[in-house]
Amino acid sequence: MDFLRNLFSSTLGLGSAEKVLDELTLEGVAHYIQSGKCKNIVCMVGAGISTSAGIPDFRSPGTGLYANLQKYKLPYPEAIFQIDYFKKHPEPFFALARELYPGQFKPTVCHYFMKMLKDKGLLRRCYSQNIDTLERVAGLQGDDLIEAHGTFFTSHCVSFSCRKEYNLEWMKEKIFSDATPKCDKCSSLVKPDIVFFGESLPVRFFASMKMDFPQCDLLIIMGTSLQVQPFAGLVGRVSKGCPRLLINMEKAGQADPVFGVLGFGGGMDFDSDKAYRDVAHISTCDEGCLALADLLGWKAELEEMVSREHTRIDTQDKQEKAGEDQGAAAKACAPPTAPEAKKQE
Ligand SMILES: [Zn+2]
Repeated sequence: MDFLRNLFSSTLGLGSAEKVLDELTLEGVAHYIQSGKCKNIVCMVGAGISTSAGIPDFRSPGTGLYANLQKYKLPYPEAIFQIDYFKKHPEPFFALARELYPGQFKPTVCHYFMKMLKDKGLLRRCYSQNIDTLERVAGLQGDDLIEAHGTFFTSHCVSFSCRKEYNLEWMKEKIFSDATPKCDKCSSLVKPDIVFFGESLPVRFFASMKMDFPQCDLLIIMGTSLQVQPFAGLVGRVSKGCPRLLINMEKAGQADPVFGVLGFGGGMDFDSDKAYRDVAHISTCDEGCLALADLLGWKAELEEMVSREHTRIDTQDKQEKAGEDQGAAAKACAPPTAPEAKKQE
């Protein structure tokens, strides 16, 4: 009955669905979090949360990234992420991987804000479209994360009869030695577990989605223009009463003007006179997270976390560099386990 009532109320404008936020602003969201009624926050994040880490949004033209790949004569830029093209011509992808290699970048304020939500017991899950693994570097663990477009964290042999798994360390060595990664066992290509065009999303994405979104009591969407399906459609999977906060450089995910009128589709509604739960905070993700942290009284704690963790990563990088200079040969003989993987899991 609740479902029908909500459907009618939002469709026909009869009354309104349960209004949870006292105002449709960042302050309203902060009051709600402080009320203690919100315990299952789901974050949905995209490329915009990593741009301040220096990772270019490689899907937009003009970043220079595609220009660097001209020598490979791609038929069109997206071919680099197409599975059929990759199997025939893996070189451009690995050249790009060298530039975007995870570990060259530090997580942003926004990544650490999500870690803080986890530490405070408020984060149910983070659904990320990014493949840069910065959520893991910031301290989210495998169970906290759905990497909807896969990850560099593990790799597999592309041969269906083999599928041997390789770790980050192994892949890193291949990528930086300019060698096209080939399987030790069967000599087929080895591909990081990121989802290419023409491949399906990880099984875990669909399984977790069904559990997480009905339970979600606050959806925070950051740094994504909500244009890639099925990811974008997740915003419509929370209950009608669940507030949704968008932190982005522009509004996104709004209902189709035709279907929106009919109440289908579950698109965002920030501005209409029926708006009752969607908040758009137009800013960079870092600014938005800092502003929200400030309203929650967490700002100093967040800034402290960012500076402490960045120092730790810089120190670790320096030590690794020193170690590499001293004993590249010794390292080559090390057993094929990834110490990084153990630390983070
Ligand atoms: Zn193989």
